[in-house]
Amino acid sequence: MGANLNDLVTVSRYFGSDPKWVVAGGGNTSFKDDDVLYVKASGFPLATIDEGGFARMDRGKLAVIWDTEYPSGKDAAAVAEREKMVLADMMAARMPGEERRPSVETLLHNLLPWPLVVHLHPTLVNGLTCGVRGPEIAVEIFGDTQEWIPVCNPGYVLAKHIRSALVHRSARGLDSPDYILLANHGVFVGGRDAEEIQGKYRRLHETLKNRLVYRPGTMPVTAPLPGDAEALKRVASGLFGDSAKLEFITGGELDRYLADDEAAAPLTGSLTPDHIVYSGPGALFLGAKNPAEDWSSAAEAYIGKWGKPPNITLLNNGSGIPGALAAAAGRKALGNAVLLLKNTLEVCAFSESFGGPLGMEEPLVRFIVNWEVENYRSRMTSG
Ligand SMILES: [Zn+2]
Repeated sequence: MGANLNDLVTVSRYFGSDPKWVVAGGGNTSFKDDDVLYVKASGFPLATIDEGGFARMDRGKLAVIWDTEYPSGKDAAAVAEREKMVLADMMAARMPGEERRPSVETLLHNLLPWPLVVHLHPTLVNGLTCGVRGPEIAVEIFGDTQEWIPVCNPGYVLAKHIRSALVHRSARGLDSPDYILLANHGVFVGGRDAEEIQGKYRRLHETLKNRLVYRPGTMPVTAPLPGDAEALKRVASGLFGDSAKLEFITGGELDRYLADDEAAAPLTGSLTPDHIVYSGPGALFLGAKNPAEDWSSAAEAYIGKWGKPPNITLLNNGSGIPGALAAAAGRKALGNAVLLLKNTLEVCAFSESFGGPLGMEEPLVRFIVNWEVENYRSRMTSG
């Protein structure tokens, strides 16, 4: 007996309920038979998902997307037009009566050769995928059992890259890889059944753990707002509206990044799409300025650049207490922003063993900030 929809639910919950594998809403899973792909729908956390959390997709219609010509230009208008067309075709590939919104990585799930596929963004694995020496160390450790996919736009472009990588592998006489490692993103693992996938993930985790030369120290903790708390709350409301929530965190691994804007670069940049979705396109470095007086104008400049206010603002020693102001609209969004800031600290620490952290280039960050599907995901998870 091969895998079935039940196995998909079981394996999704197994990974989804362990923070070692899943942080916030990141990751998606699928099961396929000859005709139908069941892929995680947006808005259903893996930890508690049941059969109702998967969108049913017509595999034949998804395959036709590869024969369709989309705008190939690299300018913003062509990219936006292509993404709109692909999204429309993907939505049209749902089975009759299907209302749920399939994962942004649906095309990719459909083309992978295994019945069960689990795609995750694990913290330790992202230490490797966000490492300067990630590609060479991946080859050194896993050889041809891995396939390294250089950083690229998620969704259609990523699926296209992996599709041609798999074609090249089979032309070279290689089997399907155990690990498809996506730079600045995560990993895809497939198998005949749940045990095979769990075994592959266990081996991945153990192997990387054995390579670590530095492990994350303590995480920053919540502390009273520094300085004029009422003034800070007014700025936060100005930025995030009436539902604004504000928190100050300080200490631990965060201290390593607060000396000056150069030291802060790993935090003012972005490591993966998840970090952008939940804690914004990089932190604002306010440095030694007085936050009650200068936060507002610095945030306006940030809004001018990114079109949204900063979730994370870094203060250094000169401001009195070094730390990070985390702000967002609503309790849940604030919790996710803090969670992903801490995750950035952990990924950066793990990446020390893989050449140090390497962030995404600004055009890619901008693509994700403007990408309708990720904005949808962010809205769904902030309630
Ligand atoms: Zn992903």
